[in-house]
Amino acid sequence: MSATTVAGLDLESLAFTLESINEFAERELSDAVLIDLDERDEFPESLVRKMCSEELGVQLLFVPEEYGGMGGSAVDVYRACERLAATDLGIATSVLATVLGSDPITVGGTPEQKAQWLGRIAEEGILMAYGATEPDAGSDLAALKTTATPVVEDGVAVAYKLNGAKQWISNGGVADAATVLALAPGGPTWFVIDGDAPGLTRGEPERKHGIRLSNTAALFLEDVRVPAERLIGGVEGQGLVQAQEVFGYTRLMVAAFGLGAGWAALDRAIPYSTERIQAGGPLSAKQGYTHKLIVPHAVRLEAARAAIEETAERIDAGGGALNTEGAIAKYLATEAGNAGADAAIQALGGYGYTHEYMVEKIKRDVRITTIYEGTSEIMEMTVARDRWQQHLKTRGDYYHAAARELEALHQSSPALGADVAALAHHALATLLEACRVRRLTRHQHVLLRAGRLIALVEGAGALVRRARRADEGGLGAKASERVRADVLAAISRVNAREVAMTVAADGVRWVVGAGDGDDAQQLSESLGLPAIHAAQAGLIADLDAVADGLYGR
Ligand SMILES: Cc1cc2nc3c(=O)[nH]c(=O)nc-3n(C[C@H](O)[C@H](O)[C@H](O)COP(=O)(O)OP(=O)(O)OC[C@H]3O[C@@H](n4cnc5c(N)ncnc54)[C@H](O)[C@@H]3O)c2cc1C
Repeated sequence: MSATTVAGLDLESLAFTLESINEFAERELSDAVLIDLDERDEFPESLVRKMCSEELGVQLLFVPEEYGGMGGSAVDVYRACERLAATDLGIATSVLATVLGSDPITVGGTPEQKAQWLGRIAEEGILMAYGATEPDAGSDLAALKTTATPVVEDGVAVAYKLNGAKQWISNGGVADAATVLALAPGGPTWFVIDGDAPGLTRGEPERKHGIRLSNTAALFLEDVRVPAERLIGGVEGQGLVQAQEVFGYTRLMVAAFGLGAGWAALDRAIPYSTERIQAGGPLSAKQGYTHKLIVPHAVRLEAARAAIEETAERIDAGGGALNTEGAIAKYLATEAGNAGADAAIQALGGYGYTHEYMVEKIKRDVRITTIYEGTSEIMEMTVARDRWQQHLKTRGDYYHAAARELEALHQSSPALGADVAALAHHALATLLEACRVRRLTRHQHVLLRAGRLIALVEGAGALVRRARRADEGGLGAKASERVRADVLAAISRVNAREVAMTVAADGVRWVVGAGDGDDAQQLSESLGLPAIHAAQAGLIADLDAVADGLYGR
């Protein structure tokens, strides 16, 4: 994959799209407007419809060119989603809901269905909803109870009758059309229904912790008659496969939401801290402040960005659905976004706790990103299961091999922390092998903790590779360039140290914790803990360098 590959929008169109989102936000979505809507718990339907009309046309980014859209690539979509989320995550969620709603059609629809529905999104700017979740089927979608009963005439199913309920549906109260997952005789199947279909009723808008500028409502289906040509793809039983197929892509969108919201919070805390004088100087000059409340969060967000960008570029280069990489990106970015927004409240002290300063709203908003499109625990499970298989298939060499690549990279680029990231990869490989020998993944907790460590380690690898590209001046024409190459290198070194420490220390903890009589000392050595401790040398200087970079010093 070349760093200069340009899929989707040309560079000018991407820049224009991002600028147009900014201008729209400045014009229509001032802090005062957002705070007022949030306090009134109001979904600004006319604003969202304006965004999907000729005035902004944000929906065009997500629709392929052949159906009247702009055919944005995964990288384009990540950049736009980051920008939307930095404005308001509720509004971003409403845009996401239309994309999600059309996704089963995009991946599994017949040519006629694609032309009809994707064409309507592009031309009319219709809002869609994605009806998967049910009161008793959330993470475990296979437990769905909504039924699709064929209406048979002359031996042919001419229509289906849908019965059941869908829960927590974004745009549920306002969508012009919705895709709904229901159990047909052949298995779970997607149908597309009109918003005014007889038998469809919508619940009251949910009163939520955050993203109060989005509409979330239940859908109730009572004998909703859907013509057979509304069965997506024309074949029953494809629903769960179609839902899976889009995850690599849609989870990247939610990852970009976590990234955008997390940075939006830090972008308020950083300038605040240069002006807030305490104990004779600005907070930004105090290490105990910056190195706890700002720097580690910027580091984790940029590790997440590296995972998002690498995954998006691989998808655009034809690398497949990349579900596991999408799950890693979502997990890293949404957890980092949440932690960063929470730290931003602390960074603003009492002001941070009030509505006026926005960071508490961002924190409430970003909280949803670790829940929808697959919870963090489901991400941990997805990542752990897939990489466990890789560990077994390669007879334990999967992460040792990745470590060797980083060691080679370190030879030519010694300032990026690649050697320490390699220690983290070796530690992870050793940890997974210790789990295999002792059969520890029978403990679900150990499996899911391993999922977290895998995500952290892969994020560290992605960040090293991104820092090297920045160092060589070739981040990629569409890549975000928030920080200078030398600052990104320091960020990568800080991150590699943290990840290596976490893998080795947590690894010892869980292996010893799940076993009986393991030698903790020997295990610490085999996971490389002494070397990882030694690699912490220079950490404070690097934290200083990152702080200086973020504050433009
Ligand atoms: C604001 C909002 C908007 C949403 N929008 C949409 C939408 O547009 N369309 C749609 O279809 N859905 C939507 N959802 C639903 C969302 O995707 C689900 O809430 C989410 O998938 C989790 O399902 P659940 O709420 O049933 O939680 P559960 O699945 O019951 O999970 C509860 C907790 O248990 C954990 N857990 C679950 N299973 C396991 C397991 N096997 N092992 C260990 N831990 C587990 C979870 O991680 C979570 O912490 C939305 C939800 C919200 C709140």
